[in-house]
Amino acid sequence: MSSENEFVKDFENKITDTIKEFDLISPKDKLLVAVSGGKDSTAVLYVLKKLGYKVEALTIDVIIGKYTEENLKNIQEFCKTQDIKLHTVSFREAYGAALCHIVDLIKSRGWNLQSCTVCGVLRRYLVNLYTRKLGATKVVTGHNLDDEAQAFMMNLLKNKQEMNARLGSAPGLIKDSKFVPRIKPLYLTSEKDVEKYSKIMNFPVKYGRCPCAVDAYRNYIRNMLNDLEKDYKNIKENIIDYLLKTLPDLKAKFKTDKKLNACKECKEPSRSEVCRTCQILAFVKKPS
Ligand code: SF4
Ligand SMILES: [Zn+2]
Repeated sequence: MSSENEFVKDFENKITDTIKEFDLISPKDKLLVAVSGGKDSTAVLYVLKKLGYKVEALTIDVIIGKYTEENLKNIQEFCKTQDIKLHTVSFREAYGAALCHIVDLIKSRGWNLQSCTVCGVLRRYLVNLYTRKLGATKVVTGHNLDDEAQAFMMNLLKNKQEMNARLGSAPGLIKDSKFVPRIKPLYLTSEKDVEKYSKIMNFPVKYGRCPCAVDAYRNYIRNMLNDLEKDYKNIKENIIDYLLKTLPDLKAKFKTDKKLNACKECKEPSRSEVCRTCQILAFVKKPS
């Protein structure tokens, strides 16, 4: 077997093992993969289909000019060739405006939220809503081992223990019938390996970063871990190992039986009276 074929086999086996180890998918599950057109979500979608799971894909077009136009075209082409049903929802349809416009409006009113924060909140909201509407039982995301190690370090250095309790291959602390569970089958797979796999498989994806990715703190942590890894092998794997050992206690510590509120505005589940999405949208619509 060629070394490329061996790599592909190992890569796919690792995902199978991750699903088994964390009991991520049951035979009855109908999976909706949240795809962006990037390498991670495309790879996980491809492998799950290959492993025989029932999968459909959902992409949220946040509208960042050429970047998302190309990603959308790529994922449409990919799903067509793989015979996977793709659902598309755009920020303009759902919220009446593109991401950058929403962020500009928020900033002009003095609320200094970063693009990625706004994008993450508004996207997660739509993914959860549409997963329910489409009758899927789980949302699959393309988060990989590097993403998780970065998130852990970011929370650790900011002393946000509760945020780390929400990590894991099936994240979250609060169960609510309106919250569709999320799973991360690439949890133990490094970003480097996902990129290698995606290139070998010749997936139609772009490898650059999103032009709106200005989360300076995450960039700092990503670079720091990548630098450390040059001299200290397996540093990211060690972080995940450490996290997995402490996660049961952390989850127990922050577990709550408290029910979520129904957001006063949209009736979706929320920790506060008005959910983050409605808070952001109220800001956007506020008359100047
Ligand atoms: S990098 Fe940030 S702005 Fe760009 S798609 Fe991701 S979350 Fe959204
Ligand atoms: Zn709401």
